[in-house]
Amino acid sequence: MSFDRATRDKLVRALAATVIAHADELTSLDQAIGDGDHGLNMKRGFEAVLATLPGLADKSTPEMLKSIGMTLVMKVGGASGPLVGTFFMELGKALPEAPSRADLIAATDKAIEAVKARGRSDAGQKTLLDVLVPVQAVFAAGGDSRAIAVEAAEAAERTTPMLAIRGRASFLGERSIGHMDPGSRSASLLIGAAAETLEIKAGS
Ligand code: ADP
Ligand code: MG
Repeated sequence: MSFDRATRDKLVRALAATVIAHADELTSLDQAIGDGDHGLNMKRGFEAVLATLPGLADKSTPEMLKSIGMTLVMKVGGASGPLVGTFFMELGKALPEAPSRADLIAATDKAIEAVKARGRSDAGQKTLLDVLVPVQAVFAAGGDSRAIAVEAAEAAERTTPMLAIRGRASFLGERSIGHMDPGSRSASLLIGAAAETLEIKAGS
């Protein structure tokens, strides 16, 4: 895994592109079990991140991730803004400048713990943690980009039959069953884009 400037630039553009391209889909998922703003929230956040290029990619990888996180906290709003923002900020705080795979796994663990603390939530409650936690298990077990992306997509699908216990969808009780969690879908898109850009090889 290399984190040179070109990769950082490509990564930011890929994350933003997938969120922007899927904004309508995220909105309709959130219309079914939330208030319909998730697509717009995420699109606004990642457009704001894009606007900080090219300077953003001039930063070191940890500083860049912290900056992305702060922009997302400020611009996404809703429940997801502080959570997705926290993920990027904590990842940035925990990573050294030239991270190895082991560094990245350890930092991602910390970032996931921070999201849990912030959301007072855990996997099994039909939130983006239902993507982050299983994908992290595949990554930590040595999965490559493809395995990570496949797990992300499948984990998002697996939220469909779940009962929401956190977030706005929990207000619906049993009626939250049968719809994919919007935050899980956006997390899977971001992970898919990151995995493809970073060309993660199999191995521990
Ligand atoms: P809001 O619910 O405020 O409208 P969004 O629509 O942008 O915010 O984001 C909703 C997503 O946020 C949900 O689909 C879910 O994945 C995630 N989410 C909401 N509350 C929590 C929580 N407490 N812990 C983890 N994730 C959460
Ligand atoms: Mg919403």
